[in-house]
Amino acid sequence: MAVRAAVEQGLVTEDRHPIAALLDVQAIREAAGALRAAFDGVSALGQSVQHTFAVKAASLVPVLRLLADEGIGAEVASPGELALARAAGVPAGQTVLDSPAKTVSELREALVLGIALNADNPEELARLDGLITPGGPAPSPVGLRVNPQIGEGAIGAMSTATATSKFGVALHDPGAREWVVRAYRERPWLTRLHSHVGSQGMPLELMAEGARATYELAEEINAATGRRQIDTLDLGGGLPVNFGSDEMTPSFDEYARLLAATVPGLFDGRYGIVTEFGRALLAKAGTVLARVEYAKSAGGRPIAVTHAGAQIAVRTVFTPDAWPLRVAAYDAGGGPKHGDEAAQDVAGPCCFAGDLVARDRMLPRLEAGDHVGLLDTGAYYFSNPFGYNSLPWPGVYGFTVSGGGQGPESGSGAGSGRAGTADSAVNFAPVREPQSLADIVEGSGGAHRDALRDA
Ligand SMILES: *Cc1c(COP(=O)(O)O)cnc(C)c1O
Repeated sequence: MAVRAAVEQGLVTEDRHPIAALLDVQAIREAAGALRAAFDGVSALGQSVQHTFAVKAASLVPVLRLLADEGIGAEVASPGELALARAAGVPAGQTVLDSPAKTVSELREALVLGIALNADNPEELARLDGLITPGGPAPSPVGLRVNPQIGEGAIGAMSTATATSKFGVALHDPGAREWVVRAYRERPWLTRLHSHVGSQGMPLELMAEGARATYELAEEINAATGRRQIDTLDLGGGLPVNFGSDEMTPSFDEYARLLAATVPGLFDGRYGIVTEFGRALLAKAGTVLARVEYAKSAGGRPIAVTHAGAQIAVRTVFTPDAWPLRVAAYDAGGGPKHGDEAAQDVAGPCCFAGDLVARDRMLPRLEAGDHVGLLDTGAYYFSNPFGYNSLPWPGVYGFTVSGGGQGPESGSGAGSGRAGTADSAVNFAPVREPQSLADIVEGSGGAHRDALRDA
């Protein structure tokens, strides 16, 4: 019903705004609640559990603010992401900095602000030696990222624990493990250990193996230093998302149970825990809604030319096998589209042939003026736009359903496409304005029109 309301309320229009993104606020809150509940057992033992949200998955200030309300901090990996987290009011104590390429001034700033950080490599640790008083505690919690080299998941580009991954200290390289243990012995202020073994495409078992390797290394380091020097394990994020149906599988709870079974020591109250989930918290809450501008055919293949393409679904367009998306068909009024299905391509507005969000997909035959919804796009889609063809970023709107239409069984999700009842209402709140043509000109050197001519 959110789709129909978005069309009725003019969020998607024929001329100025043929595409918009919708975020289901209740779904975000529920995902946050499910994450907290999954790790309740550790909190009950008196250990600190700090969940953080990987900002790159949905780099939007109101989203970070909503999650902070839900007790979820921010994992940031650039000065821009840190600025967003601060603008959202995420407390420094609930922020973790993980960039693989931190400059000296970024490191200094994080320490001054009291933001936890994880060093990526020996050179970064050496820089920190110059910023932290030897012998004293660090001004903020500092950890080291390790790569347990447990292997690759289904998507190479998402697998961060291969033998040659660019992240962290590769533990199985000759001498590396001994080097890490020594690094902790020499630096009493190094109190955390971090690993993030991959994102979408990683089997849960492999993720749990990564956590086991991290835990065992922490035990070895604490034995070597003769005290509980490492007090917190940062387990990263990476819970995969089911892009094939409305179900949220695997669940945070399933993952936490597997962790507890594989690495019981993680949950016995000796270590604080940090998590950094991104995709799993937001993906299901988002829908990209776009108008069908034309319906044509080529070589016998029907093609719906829509306003959602590579500018909003970069990964799906360039690596369609790794990132398939469900496409929902709606009519001109935003109601579910019925009728005979036909295999068709769903194309975007970009000027290159591969700009397709679905190929040969069975859908009710789309016509000009209809709408398509790209489902499960709350993470890594509209918040990571691609500046091709100077297409604007779409507006992003959070929605809540009040009255009789509430609850999943009545189809409050944007993708469910059911009509609202007379006593239910969908309320939209702007999360990000659509980018204007003036913004595009400004971002494209508009202020320097004559710069080259005068050079
Ligand atoms: C990207 C990233 C995450 C989040 O990954 P998801 O697959 O979105 O959960 C967590 N930690 C680090 C270090 C990351 O780079």
